Amino acid sequence: MFIDWAKRPKHPIPYAPGQYSPEPWLSHAASAYILGQKLEAILFAKYALSQFIQNCALIALSPWKSIEEKAPLQSPLARFSDHWVAWNTSLSGPGVNEYSGLKAANLATQVKASTRDPRILELEHWYSSCGDDINAKCEHDPIFLENEREKRRLERRPPPPEWGAEYEGTGDKSTVSSPSPLAKHKPSNSPFPPKTPRR
Ligand SMILES: [Zn+2]
Repeated sequence: MFIDWAKRPKHPIPYAPGQYSPEPWLSHAASAYILGQKLEAILFAKYALSQFIQNCALIALSPWKSIEEKAPLQSPLARFSDHWVAWNTSLSGPGVNEYSGLKAANLATQVKASTRDPRILELEHWYSSCGDDINAKCEHDPIFLENEREKRRLERRPPPPEWGAEYEGTGDKSTVSSPSPLAKHKPSNSPFPPKTPRR
């Protein structure tokens, strides 16, 4: 896989819900990532991580135990794996499941209603220290960013005009098709010079 990628290097893939890659990426992206780290092939490892994130829900042989053993602590793959295991353990509820016995399963107690599906977070999140926090409110979270944008939009919205006094000039100029009738009364538009009283 590394040789193939090295012949024609590719950018990491953005997460697309419900889509899965053909083999070998479907099942072997985590091993490819670990190989990339060992070879210090940073771009290859990053591509492999993006493939792993895309496909992790569909891998037949559970990769999580092996990741806990092989991926260095706080490496991007370990960060993603911890978040995924905690989130899924919390969703699975009590009882034995795929994640039972994993160290990261203990993080399930930190999962909140607002904890994200880790797949939607920007890839850079796993390369940043915020990737250690499964409840990080950071620039890598598209839902958090959208909420912040909406908050700012509501704060910026001007108060409703009083008696139309402040109406002029506050509207979007692109939607104005004819000049306001009030414009006629602007003194600067007058063709006559101001009259001065005769002595
Ligand atoms: Zn982040």
